[in-house]
Amino acid sequence: MSIYDLTEENRVVRERARSFAEEEISPNLARWEESEEFPYDVVRRMGEEGFYGSCFPEEYGGSELGFLNLAIVCEEISRVSPGIGSTFNAQAMTVPFTILNWGTKQQIERYVPPLIQGEKIGFFSLTEPGGGSDAAGSMKTRASRDGADGYLLDGHKKWASLAGIAHTGVLFAKTDPEATHKGVSAFIVETDAPGFVTRKIPTTLDMHLFPSFEILLEDCRVPSGNLLSDEGDGFRVAMNALDFGRLTIPARAVGVAQACLERAVDFCNERVVGGHRLGEYQLIQGLIADMTVQIEAARLLTYKSAHLKDRGEATTRESAHSKYFAAETLWNAAQALAEIYGGRAVALEDEYPVSRYLSWANLFRTGEGPQNIQRILISEDTLGFKDANRHNIKRRFPLKSDL
Ligand SMILES: Cc1cc2nc3c(=O)[nH]c(=O)nc-3n(C[C@H](O)[C@H](O)[C@H](O)COP(=O)(O)OP(=O)(O)OC[C@H]3O[C@@H](n4cnc5c(N)ncnc54)[C@H](O)[C@@H]3O)c2cc1C
Repeated sequence: MSIYDLTEENRVVRERARSFAEEEISPNLARWEESEEFPYDVVRRMGEEGFYGSCFPEEYGGSELGFLNLAIVCEEISRVSPGIGSTFNAQAMTVPFTILNWGTKQQIERYVPPLIQGEKIGFFSLTEPGGGSDAAGSMKTRASRDGADGYLLDGHKKWASLAGIAHTGVLFAKTDPEATHKGVSAFIVETDAPGFVTRKIPTTLDMHLFPSFEILLEDCRVPSGNLLSDEGDGFRVAMNALDFGRLTIPARAVGVAQACLERAVDFCNERVVGGHRLGEYQLIQGLIADMTVQIEAARLLTYKSAHLKDRGEATTRESAHSKYFAAETLWNAAQALAEIYGGRAVALEDEYPVSRYLSWANLFRTGEGPQNIQRILISEDTLGFKDANRHNIKRRFPLKSDL
């Protein structure tokens, strides 16, 4: 199979995801937004459809469709709703996939199936108020031993998507506060643990579909059995989680950019200015051409990264390339849509305001390693200073879809 030529299965998966997005998400978006409540039901339905379980073995409830199909589904759902599309991070990658890649059999059996089936909501918490780019250096949250069978977590985490409405998460804390990277450990944390408190952070995104939270940890007890991998291994766990999480960011960005392009095309064909449809003006055509080609290029980089993951290869480099380029593509597409919309760009009564697309572009440029950090990684790799794929951390379980 070539990534330039999707298989019949990829096409069927895309069709199914598109119908789901248009029939089960789109008609309900306004109602969900008004109710200001998280739509647990749609997450459960997407779990039942096998959307989140693409990269998981059947024995743990997965559908084994693989990474390229995951990217395709994520793109289609995000085209209709960036908020619901963003659940793919916690439900399909950074939480259950990290547990699958690093957990014990008991941890996997207990935590993975309910997450990928959409019965439980996940969260991933690395960032702290001191900054996300230098996550290990700025980490102040402490995990100290509490007897032989537990840890107490104390500290303050920031920007933990979904944490306040979630059940289970992967959270990072220092077991050795004197060390930087080697002092970090990863824990599976249940949100009903005593001492686990969240506070919502208002944002300019789809706030009720993808809410963000701070987490305040005060003597929050976690059993020793919930340590993920070994003490001091947390930074490797986090970086590997982000390599995989960085597949859903570009897939989401491509889906949202595609939505911007489709709106721009509709508007260019409807709006008449100076006796001509807007799309007949060549300066406007330039914007449409740039959007079209950049989105296609971002899609190909994303599919390449997914394709290599389907071959079981290490993909830190390809994850960075696709994340960086797709987030910039969405940024450019949202700016182009704003230009094409004219005054309408600032109207809040529009079905989906342009300012919200720009906010999503900002999130995709910042989240999972900001653009500057991706550029540093990419340039050091190109200059030959550091091979981006040097850690060679791959995935652990084979899938039927493996190439
Ligand atoms: C809505 C939202 C949801 C999020 N969800 C999660 C989540 O679920 N889990 C989680 O752990 N985190 C989450 N994050 C956090 C996100 O990953 C961080 O915002 C990101 O890592 C950047 O950290 P920061 O915002 O603290 O910026 P900082 O680290 O303070 O950086 C600020 C700016 O400086 C630039 N910069 C930093 N270092 C360098 C350098 N060496 N050279 C040049 N420029 C540099 C960065 O590119 C950035 O633009 C979320 C963030 C948002 C906004």
